Amino acid sequence: MTKVEDAPKVESSESIVEEIRAWLKENWDPKLTVAEWWERLGLAGWSSPTLPVNAYGRGLSRSDALSVSREIASFGALGPPGGLGLLLAAPTIATHGTQEQIDLYVRGIVTGQQGWCQLFSEPGAGSDLAGLSTRAVKDGDEWVINGQKVWTSLGQFADLGMLLARTDPEVPKHQGITWMVLDMHQAGVEVRPLREMTGNALFNEVFMTDAHVPDSAVIGGLNNGWAVANTTLAFERAGLGAGGGGAGFSAMPGTVAEQLGRKAGEFVTPRTGGPAGDMAAMLSPMGPSAMIALARQTGKDKDPVVRQGLARLHTLGEVARFNTERMKAARAAGRDIPGLANIAKLTMSDIMRLSRDLGLSIAGAQGTLHAYTQDARGPLDGLPNSGLVSSITGLALHAQAPPIYGGTDQIQRNIIGERVLGLPKEPSNDRTAPFSELPKNG
Ligand SMILES: Cc1cc2nc3c(=O)[nH]c(=O)nc-3n(C[C@H](O)[C@H](O)[C@H](O)COP(=O)(O)OP(=O)(O)OC[C@H]3O[C@@H](n4cnc5c(N)ncnc54)[C@H](O)[C@@H]3O)c2cc1C
Repeated sequence: MTKVEDAPKVESSESIVEEIRAWLKENWDPKLTVAEWWERLGLAGWSSPTLPVNAYGRGLSRSDALSVSREIASFGALGPPGGLGLLLAAPTIATHGTQEQIDLYVRGIVTGQQGWCQLFSEPGAGSDLAGLSTRAVKDGDEWVINGQKVWTSLGQFADLGMLLARTDPEVPKHQGITWMVLDMHQAGVEVRPLREMTGNALFNEVFMTDAHVPDSAVIGGLNNGWAVANTTLAFERAGLGAGGGGAGFSAMPGTVAEQLGRKAGEFVTPRTGGPAGDMAAMLSPMGPSAMIALARQTGKDKDPVVRQGLARLHTLGEVARFNTERMKAARAAGRDIPGLANIAKLTMSDIMRLSRDLGLSIAGAQGTLHAYTQDARGPLDGLPNSGLVSSITGLALHAQAPPIYGGTDQIQRNIIGERVLGLPKEPSNDRTAPFSELPKNG
């Protein structure tokens, strides 16, 4: 078995593509179990090659990592474990964790052994995340947790959670928060799924009643959780702005979904990945070419308003692509373009909204039909262009989510206004007054 320390660090984009192709030829075997395949992929540094070498990655740039995932997909191999562990927890722990914590948690993420969820938002703390009130109180070598989280995506499939808890209410709110790892399989943790208008239940309420976290599971230091959370949020924004591109085939990581023991080859057909795969598909907006194909089928390609919408969708997609190229060029030159990740996320929201409106006008009345369960799909399957129209309806129902998760559109604009354009913040004493003295709802 390849140990991560032995994984060679590759230099140029061409050699990376050649190397992953050669590695796949030697290692991909659809008869392996999902767990066996992910162990190979993860320990060779290919599950998340942007991670540093000491954190089970290869230190590659985002664009090189995208070439790797495209190569895995076009080779027809099962891609890396989907979900929030790889997207958020691994890079956060790689940035702020000790080597011991990296070996304990990141190894389990890149090999898909554990599924993760993000326990940040609360009923009273979403946009104002630093106002969270879940309490962690020290008891010997442990923290005792009490509180409630909400909108926890894939919480029902998670083994571990990225928990933000208040460890000191007597200091200003940003200074008394700690980022810790919560074991979701314990008596004090209750997960209740919430059904969405799409028919799925991707997210959940999570109640913690005297739940326990060992002190060794604190990441990035006591009361330093705001800095650590900002790392998580930066990776979330960058991942969402990129639209989950290059996803390919995936399966659900972790012990709960019970996919680890199945054959990897079973998952190498479109849309078999379960909720994580569905999520990746939903994050990727439908390109104009699919819309144009449907418009030709339905005759809507003659409608000047539809034609204008298609041109706008194409233009927005190109603007997003050019911005990604600008960011790549700036990074290669050792520079940054402030606010571009926020702009990328706003553009993604615009593309989703336009795709919804345009898609529904092309699909016509058929676009209002939706099967809320797989069993109810039967009558829809017989309708013309049923696959494309169902994708449009699914996308239209989901399009409300991207402008909210990972920080709402309004919050992205506030960040650009305050941190990039230098506009004044709203007057507030919440950076100086202790959290315990701030006014609270209810
Ligand atoms: C599909 C989905 C998945 C999610 N998954 C997760 C997850 O896995 N883990 C997790 O922790 N959270 C998750 N979230 C929660 C998400 O991060 C929050 O919904 C989001 O941060 C907004 O918080 P809120 O819902 O409490 O809205 P609020 O903060 O109450 O905002 C309500 C409205 O007021 C506006 N607003 C609030 N403050 C300001 C301000 N200062 N200036 C201007 N406008 C303002 C907002 O833009 C919004 O329109 C998810 C959300 C969705 C929709």
